[in-house]
Amino acid sequence: MADLAPYAVDPERSRGRVHPEDAPGVRSEFQRDRDRIIHSTAFRRLEYKTQVFVNHEGDLFRTRLTHSLEVAQIGRSVARALGLNEDLVEAICLAHDLGHTPFGHAGQDALNACMKEHGGFEHNLQSLRVVDVLEDRYAAFDGLNLCFETREGILKHCSRAAAAMLGELGQRFLDGKQPSLEAQVANLADEIAYNNHDVDDGIRSGLLSLDEIAATGIVRRHLEFVRGRYPALGGRRLVHETVRRMINTLVTDLIAQSRANINAACPLSVDAVRASSPLIAFSPELCEEQLELKRFLRQHLYQHFRVARMSWKSKRVVVDLFQAFFDEPQLLPPQFLARYREDGARAIADYVAGMTDRFAIREHRRLYAIDES
Ligand code: MG
Repeated sequence: MADLAPYAVDPERSRGRVHPEDAPGVRSEFQRDRDRIIHSTAFRRLEYKTQVFVNHEGDLFRTRLTHSLEVAQIGRSVARALGLNEDLVEAICLAHDLGHTPFGHAGQDALNACMKEHGGFEHNLQSLRVVDVLEDRYAAFDGLNLCFETREGILKHCSRAAAAMLGELGQRFLDGKQPSLEAQVANLADEIAYNNHDVDDGIRSGLLSLDEIAATGIVRRHLEFVRGRYPALGGRRLVHETVRRMINTLVTDLIAQSRANINAACPLSVDAVRASSPLIAFSPELCEEQLELKRFLRQHLYQHFRVARMSWKSKRVVVDLFQAFFDEPQLLPPQFLARYREDGARAIADYVAGMTDRFAIREHRRLYAIDES
């Protein structure tokens, strides 16, 4: 990291790890964090967790794993252009969805409802719990023992009540301060990735057509451009040529607007970044276009009756699993039963949240179909 900007996070000046460790040899602290995330069990599970479409609906849809890789790739481009710490951005992006339940947001909503009397369930807090507590790989500590800055980036949002229990890590939510610019980049890279790949997956699924999504300004603009330049183009290539231009426009805009914000605020340290207003941002015009696209996707894709049917079934599976273990903890695998005796319902939530889509479906069958075992 030869040319880190003064407002970038410097690995030499990290606030450190909860359990002190020797400095890494050839790697930086954040490269070590990234490597630990990639080697974790939770990371491998992302391959079989839903983004929007459930795993068995098709092989070509985004999963949480390919989503996380796309987020990391977008985040790194933005970080490099702004002189930020690319390794830290990459680590945050790769870890940001580790706490997701099976079946995407339907699963999270169902588990949150199950946990209502037991402190609730929130995937973002769960991502932190995965890297802080649940991964069991190292001799000297639970979790991955990541640096403060990586954990800060993973904790994108948090209620005041939860923040109050997180000590130093939660303090910014109580003080109204910002996380590092690297964390801010990871957050918006996530948004660019999912909006664009949901357009792509929405079309691939047959639930939406490109011309329908062209009701939104950002898609219309880029589709008209591609049709003007390649009048004979159709099918998947037309979709991809449109989507790749949308991503490029958003990334370029994010870099330009953020650079202007940084130049205006002129933060000379990470502390100055934390005390400032958010500096990583889209221009107001693109922000508006993104919102329009989000509204469109919510109405026409996430609430499409076929997606709604799968969400309903997914919720049933999660609720049934939780209920079975809650009513009869003896049904839990022995290591989770041991944890249940200490942590109660939270151990059940950890077990269910850790499941992949297909494991949850199988486990549901094993528990509820009398001729399965
Ligand atoms: Mg995400």
